Formats: sequence, C-alpha cells, structure tokens
Amino acid sequence: MDYLRKKYRILLISIILVIGLIISGVVYFVLIDLEEAYHEYAKDSIMDVKKGYLKDTVNNIIDGIEQKNENQVIYHQHLAEDMIGIFDNYYLADSEGFLYYAKQYMQQEAKKIDFTFLIINSQNNEVVFQYIPSLEDENIISTEYINHLSSELPVYTSKLYGNYKIVIGVSQNVIDSRVKNALYNEIHGLKFEDDAYVWVNEIVNYAGGDDYAIRRIHPNLKDTEGIYLSTNMTDVMGTTPYKTELEGVKQYGELFFQYYFKKLNSDTISEKITYAKLYKDFDWIIAMGVHLDDIQEYVDKTTQDKSQQVRRLLIILSSIVIVIIIIALVVVHHLERWYYGNFNKTLIEESLKDPLTNTYNRRAAYKYLATSWANFKSVGLNAKIMMIDIDNFKKVNDSCGHSVGDQVLIKLADTINSHIRSNDFLSRWGGEEFLLICNGLKKEDVEAFTVKLLNAIEKMQFECEEAKKFNITVSIGVSDFYDSDDQFSIAVNRADMALYKAKAAGKNTFVVLEEATEN
Ligand code: GH3
Ligand code: MG
Ligand code: MG
Repeated sequence: MDYLRKKYRILLISIILVIGLIISGVVYFVLIDLEEAYHEYAKDSIMDVKKGYLKDTVNNIIDGIEQKNENQVIYHQHLAEDMIGIFDNYYLADSEGFLYYAKQYMQQEAKKIDFTFLIINSQNNEVVFQYIPSLEDENIISTEYINHLSSELPVYTSKLYGNYKIVIGVSQNVIDSRVKNALYNEIHGLKFEDDAYVWVNEIVNYAGGDDYAIRRIHPNLKDTEGIYLSTNMTDVMGTTPYKTELEGVKQYGELFFQYYFKKLNSDTISEKITYAKLYKDFDWIIAMGVHLDDIQEYVDKTTQDKSQQVRRLLIILSSIVIVIIIIALVVVHHLERWYYGNFNKTLIEESLKDPLTNTYNRRAAYKYLATSWANFKSVGLNAKIMMIDIDNFKKVNDSCGHSVGDQVLIKLADTINSHIRSNDFLSRWGGEEFLLICNGLKKEDVEAFTVKLLNAIEKMQFECEEAKKFNITVSIGVSDFYDSDDQFSIAVNRADMALYKAKAAGKNTFVVLEEATEN
C-alpha cells in the first residue's frame, strides 16, 4: 500500500512539475514573442516617422520652388519697372538722343542680366534693337514673335517713347536658372539630424541607360556634381538604385527605396532608405535619405527599456508559477494525506465489520476483548461476556431457505442492537452465534437484561412461504473476567460453556457461569 502511495505521489508531483514547466515555457515564449513583436513594431514606427520626415522635407522643398519662382518674377518685374524709370528720364532729358542712350543702356545691362530687350519703331514695326538671350543669332524677329513674347515671358513690360516702343522682359529659363541657383544654395545649406541630406539629379533621358541623368546637387559628394549617371550603376549589394528610382518616379511620380551608399563625411557604406520625387518642370528628381544603421541604433535604444520590462515581467511570472507549483504541491500533499487517512479509516472499519449483519466481526471482537481485558487488568473494569446462539437455526434454513436465514440474522442483530447501550459491543462470532460485551452491566441486572432480550427476540415475527409465520429463540451463555483467568479467551470459553448449558437446559434461556462454578 505504501509503495503504491509513494508511486502515486511521485506521479502526481511529476505531473504538477511538468505542467509548471509547460506553463513557464509557454509564458517564456509568449514574452519573447511579445518582445520581438514590440521590437518590430518600434522599428516600423520609427521607420514610419523617418519616412514621413523624408517625404515632408522633400515636399517642402518642392513647395518652395513655386514660391521662389514667384519671388524671382516679382523681383525681375521690379527691375524692369526701375529700367522703365531710367528710360523715362532719358526721354525727358533728351527725346532726340533717346534711341542712342536707350541702345547703349540695353547693351550694357544685357551683359549683366539675361533680360530680353527690344526697341521697335512703332510706325513701321521695324525692330531697331533686340537682345533675346534664348536666340542664338541676330535673326530679325517678326511682329508676331514680339506679340507671342508678351504672353510667354513671365516678366514683360513695354512703353512707348515717341516713335519707339521699349520692351523689357525676362524668360522663364532665366527665372528657372535663378530658382535653381537659389535651390542649390539652400540645399547645400540644409542641415539635418542623422547625417541626412537632400540631393538632386536632373533627368536628361527618361528612357534610362548611360548618361540618363546629371547629378546636379549633392552635398555629400560635392565634387561629383555635374557628372552623368547611369541606370546600370549598382551598389555593393548588386542592386541598381538609379534604375529603381527612375522607374519609380516615371510610374508613380515618387517612391521610397532602399540600397547601399556611402555615409556622409565617412567612407562607411551602409543601407539607407530614400524618398525621391520628380519635379517635372525642371526634370529634377529631388531625393532625401537616411542610413538605416542609425535607425537600428535608435530602435535598440528605445526597445531597451521595454526589454527590461519584459524581463522583469518574466521573472515575476516565473516566480508566480513557482509559488503556484509549491502551493499546489503542499495542497496536494495535504489532500492526499487527508484522503488516505479517511480511506484507511473506512478500510479498517470495513475490515472489522460483518458485511451481512453490519455488526462487528470476530476480528473486531478479539481486539475489543483485548482492550476490555487490559482495562480489567489495569483498573478492574469488568464487562459481561455473552454468547448468543439461535436455537434450531438449521431448521429455519432447511424449511425456508438460506436467504430467509440471512434475513433472520440481520433482524436479530438489529433487535439486539436496539436493546444494548452505545458503549456495549455486539459482534458476529460465527454462523448464527453472536458475542455481546456489555460494559457496566451489574451482576444483579444480568437476569433482567437477558430475560428482556429473550422476550424481545421471541416476539420477532418472521415468515416464509413454506413455514408461513414463525418465530425464533436464542440461548445465552453469560460470564465475565476473573483475576484467575490467564487470558480473555478463558472468559470467552466460559461463556461458551454457559451457552452449551443453556442449550442443554432446553434453549430459549440463559445460563451464567462464574469462576467458581466452572471447574
Ligand atoms: P442449536 O444451535 O439449537 O443446537 O441448533 P442449530 O440448528 O442452530 O445448530 P447448528 O450449529 O447445527 O446449525 C447452525 C446452522 O446455522 C448451520 C448453518 O446452516 C446455519 N448458518 C450458519 N451461518 C449462516 C449464515 O450466514 N446464514 C444462514 N442462512 N445460515 C447460517
Ligand atoms: Mg451454533
Ligand atoms: Mg444454533
């Protein structure tokens, strides 16, 4: 039994430990997963922030181009109007010499700024003087062309001085080159975090290939500004970023892409993410990028705290699991002990009971007798030992059958039990013989008790098909312990002898045998 119990305990503890281990394992992997997920999430979030920052910066520069264009137009418009003021003065001072001075002034100014100048004889529409920067030779231009200029030039002003019409204008190309210059200076002056910078490539051939573009602005590689680029150029990983960029801007106007490039002010080559957008009016791809190793550093820094938290959580959860396992082990140990105790008690009780009559059995009787004998020997507490045997029980079995006989035994035990005290002890000694031990029954009360019992038993009614109604009687042999007895069995034998005498006396009676009368 103890071996089985030990095995059961080991099995139970093993199961709890395995469950604990599984829970800890699951918790561990879930937390590791969580940490990784957070890491990924942080990386994505930082990437998104960086992407937003790249895109916004490039778009701000592009938005600024319009503003710069407008500023240049206004500025040149003012210059043109100032010139008109100068022509006004010439005309006022000397209307005869106006043409001469006007020509001289224009020749002089034309060298400085790329203005378009025209002096037209309004009477015959003859062009007296022309300076048109975009025109390569000295082609005489038509009136039509002059009218066309007024709508084409973003800066255009004209005034009539006598017969001469003065036209002052600035072409879009001039404005554009001013804007581009301003952008060049602006982009070179920009300073960003993480060594980020903006660069510009001008597409000369949208089909790609060698010399498809010119590097216009590049603060990282200033010396290479002006070089031709090829879509066949590869980075250290063998990818073709220029091709990707060109195809992206052609298809979507803008794109994000990743490749390897030299870091700013360093010879290190590392992966970077770039946002590029096409500004169609200039055929410019304006781009900005950041190196990703900076992002990794940033992610590591921001996730460090979270990692620590996750680790702390892991320790707490592991401790909780360990505590739960310990509590479970203690609870199981106590429950098992309690259950085993109860189970044992029931087993012991069952092993001492007679299953048919539910009275104690002979084994229990021996135990009880031993205790009673010890009490008698130590403190002189005596008890009446009664041997009760059914009279002619064989006849009952014979005429009514064994099962009716069993019922008789059960009912007899009930009747005896209902006539004894709670501290008395009834056991089935064997067959249809019962051993009754009455504690505290005085010598003078023995007769009254046994007679009462005999009467009660006699009044019990039984029936069976064969014998119809019938009754039973019992014979009782009574004795108790004596100092001269060596052991309790002597007293039991004496009660047995008394029973024998009662049978001999005609049954349905009792006989008390005392020490003196025994031999
Ligand atoms: P007496 O004691 O009066 O001398 O006669 P008796 O017929 O009772 O005596 P005997 O000891 O010869 O018979 C006892 C019978 O009790 C024999 C047996 O069949 C019966 N018996 C013993 N145990 C059981 C039992 O558990 N159930 C039933 N039905 N009968 C039992
Ligand atoms: Mg008998
Ligand atoms: Mg009998």
